Amino acid sequence: MKKEVVDVLIIGAGPSGSVSAAYLNKHGINVKIVEKSKFPRYQIGESLIPRCMDNFEEAGLLDCLMTQNYEKKKGARFIRGEEKGVFDFSKKYGDGWDWTWQVPRDHFDNTLINEAQKQGVAVDFEAEVIDIQFKGTDSFTTIKDVDGTTRQIEAKFVIDSSGFGRVIASKLGLEAPSQLAKHGSIFTQIKDVRRPSGPNGTLITFEVISPEVWFWYIPFSNGNTSVGFVGPMDWINSFNGSTSEIFFQMLKKADHYYDQFKDLPLEFEPYQVKNIAKNVTKLHGDGFVLTGNSAEFLDPIFSSGVSFATESGILAAKLALKQLQGKSVDWDEEFVAYIKRGVDVFTSYVKEWYNGNLQEIIFHDKENVTIKKQICAVLAGYVWDETNPFVRKHNRLIRNVAQLIEMEKKMEATQ
Ligand SMILES: Cc1cc2nc3c(=O)[nH]c(=O)nc-3n(C[C@H](O)[C@H](O)[C@H](O)COP(=O)(O)OP(=O)(O)OC[C@H]3O[C@@H](n4cnc5c(N)ncnc54)[C@H](O)[C@@H]3O)c2cc1C
Repeated sequence: MKKEVVDVLIIGAGPSGSVSAAYLNKHGINVKIVEKSKFPRYQIGESLIPRCMDNFEEAGLLDCLMTQNYEKKKGARFIRGEEKGVFDFSKKYGDGWDWTWQVPRDHFDNTLINEAQKQGVAVDFEAEVIDIQFKGTDSFTTIKDVDGTTRQIEAKFVIDSSGFGRVIASKLGLEAPSQLAKHGSIFTQIKDVRRPSGPNGTLITFEVISPEVWFWYIPFSNGNTSVGFVGPMDWINSFNGSTSEIFFQMLKKADHYYDQFKDLPLEFEPYQVKNIAKNVTKLHGDGFVLTGNSAEFLDPIFSSGVSFATESGILAAKLALKQLQGKSVDWDEEFVAYIKRGVDVFTSYVKEWYNGNLQEIIFHDKENVTIKKQICAVLAGYVWDETNPFVRKHNRLIRNVAQLIEMEKKMEATQ
């Protein structure tokens, strides 16, 4: 079998793998990505949040994105019946980017990986990892190429950025149940020929159908709009038919969008994802680390996937570099503890969304400007800023504020 030796092998050419590889390449490391698909390839995860801009910038991949004319995302809108909650990232608490993009991921991911290649990153497409063995920190990865032949790559360190491929988690038995509810999703794209002019046609919108069920509207600059539903698996399973039949049955429940899309053709048969939330027993081991969706995925409600994928991708690259330079790395402290702090904040927000507390705050008609700014910073992905009380006290502040609003409403009702 053919053999190749690299310093760092990265599995997967999504945003996580691209930023890791670009960062390591910039710092003189011999890095290779192996990617099972041929690019461009479809991927879900089209609404970004501002924090990921910092990561693309640090990896040297922001300039190539700036020239692509993607739809700018300056905030987000939530609607429930006649109620509305609109967040404007330029009004968020604290520092950081106040905009990002809504992107068709086939084009976006391809732009990133092309730029990484231009900068010198070696990428093998249509090269699937089928096995991986570790001897101490050295690894021996077996790749199956598109013609069916196999070969081996030896690496001093492996970054697994294989997304829902979850290569190392499945090979080493690291899968763990998520603490979040079992949700599923069904999604597609539509040529949005009736798109309203102005912000209503460009702003990402989440329409609440019931406390646990919601619809997303993510308009792109190419005229297509990504549309999808998320809800408990029981709700998803209560529909029958093909995924496009199910999609149109669900669309009847999205009052604000039914007329806009009811008779339009779908760009492709909707995809269905079951049990979205994923988790693992550990994020690193001798000679490897897991980043992005290959490690953990919470829920799409706050569009945090690509931000976490790039945050963990950059950090993994920095620590791998340090280790290869012969310095000691405390992976638990420097990687796991940091990532977990951010994940814990978003986990609270996801739980508080689905139990209704966060919706109570977002749709409250008497807006508290300070609270809104602080929650807005979390929705922008700045979940490591401990000066923000809605980060620091994430596990109780939302509940407390929601309880106050409820009490206030009860008092008003009795007056
Ligand atoms: C319904 C739904 C909606 C979502 N909406 C959003 C959103 O609005 N915003 C957001 O930020 N995130 C969203 N996400 C999450 C988002 O899809 C992911 O977080 C993001 O794509 C993760 O990036 P990544 O680089 O970790 O993995 P990916 O982008 O999945 O890339 C992994 C790559 O690894 C490759 N690979 C897999 N197995 C192998 C193998 N054996 N060998 C070689 N290569 C392999 C794959 O082909 C793929 O190209 C959503 C997810 C779901 C399920």
